[in-house]
Amino acid sequence: VKIIRDPAQMQRLSRLLKQAGSTIGFVPTMGALHLGHLRLIETARAKNKHLIVSIYVNPTQFGPQEDLRVYPRPLQRDLALCRGAGVDVLFHPASLYAEDHSTWVVEEKIAHGRCATTRPGHFRGVATVVLKLLNIVQPDRAYFGWKDAQQVEVIQRLVRDLAVPTQIIPLETVRDRDGLALSSRNQYLSPTERTQALALPLLLAGAIHQPSPVAWLRRTLPRCPGVKLDYVEKTNGRLCAAVWVGKTRLIDNLPCP
Ligand code: AMP
Repeated sequence: VKIIRDPAQMQRLSRLLKQAGSTIGFVPTMGALHLGHLRLIETARAKNKHLIVSIYVNPTQFGPQEDLRVYPRPLQRDLALCRGAGVDVLFHPASLYAEDHSTWVVEEKIAHGRCATTRPGHFRGVATVVLKLLNIVQPDRAYFGWKDAQQVEVIQRLVRDLAVPTQIIPLETVRDRDGLALSSRNQYLSPTERTQALALPLLLAGAIHQPSPVAWLRRTLPRCPGVKLDYVEKTNGRLCAAVWVGKTRLIDNLPCP
């Protein structure tokens, strides 16, 4: 794996690869890689001549009370996983923001409700960093997980509205054997909380067979021990929910007819 830390160097390499007729697949991540990330990486590996993964814990998508400081950063482990998965380039910038950075990408329709209510400014940070990463890496295809459904929708809209020449490819959520959606934040859960968190995928899966899935989930989730409801919404054919288990906020969703 070639590690690049300088955005200008990354952009130069991508330009050269494209001039040479290569296709570039891109998987942006915040690191602490798990099998969900690896599914995106494997898919991108199979479909593109060159595979670029980024690891960047983007400060602008964290709220002031959120977990930016303690977000896991196991770089050596991530590097070994990238090596094993056939990643060509790991783009790992120190920062993507000048001290006087003052330009933001604000999607004004989808970035309301759901996670945007609890995390004001989150999608502004996401949209800005994703557009910046796409401008640096210039991929033909970029891979995202449906685990973050609202994020996928915002990015699809941003790429369409601003004519970004990258195809966005969303892939379905990868889960642990017991059903919990894999997430870097699962590491925060104590063993008891980890068990309590199973209510989220289990009840989501139960809800999609109910006549009123949203109402059913809003009723049943708060009754689960250790679980505090943030939201339940059905949007664009997906039933989406967020809960707190202890201090950890977890999101999940399933396709819902
Ligand atoms: P993150 O490192 O959390 O920013 O995630 C990087 C990418 O991996 C995003 O597109 C996520 O949606 C995706 N992702 C995270 N968890 C999963 C999962 N369990 N299954 C599939 N994709 C995931």
